[in-house]
Amino acid sequence: MATQYVTCPRCSAQNSSLNTTCMTCGSQLPIAPMPMQQMPNYGGAKPAGADKKILAGVLGIILGGLGIHKFVLGYQQEGVILLSVYLISIVVAFVTCGIGTPLIFVPTVIGIIEGIIYLTKSDEEFVQTYIVNKKPWF
Ligand SMILES: [Zn+2]
Repeated sequence: MATQYVTCPRCSAQNSSLNTTCMTCGSQLPIAPMPMQQMPNYGGAKPAGADKKILAGVLGIILGGLGIHKFVLGYQQEGVILLSVYLISIVVAFVTCGIGTPLIFVPTVIGIIEGIIYLTKSDEEFVQTYIVNKKPWF
């Protein structure tokens, strides 16, 4: 790792950026330029769409089978698919006198898994994956 240097404004001596005062003349050093960090946000503002992360994640976990979290993210088609699978599962469970009941867990589990995935992503990752790239599943 390359050591960063700060030039003293008074005597022009090179000081390590770790120092706050000049090693040569003892004057206050300007704050070293930070190593370029990826900081797309200013003032801690969340990237657009990040506000949906918590909502979509929680809805996915609680009401995953209904596809509500898909609608929140603007995924109409996927939401309809999840909701349809859920409703069909209920009908199948009813028609088969309960034998088909486990089918209801399929959309529910998908919702829970997706909700957890949303919540474990950083705001930036979430926006990049689901708002920008529109990844339909998981
Ligand atoms: Zn100096």
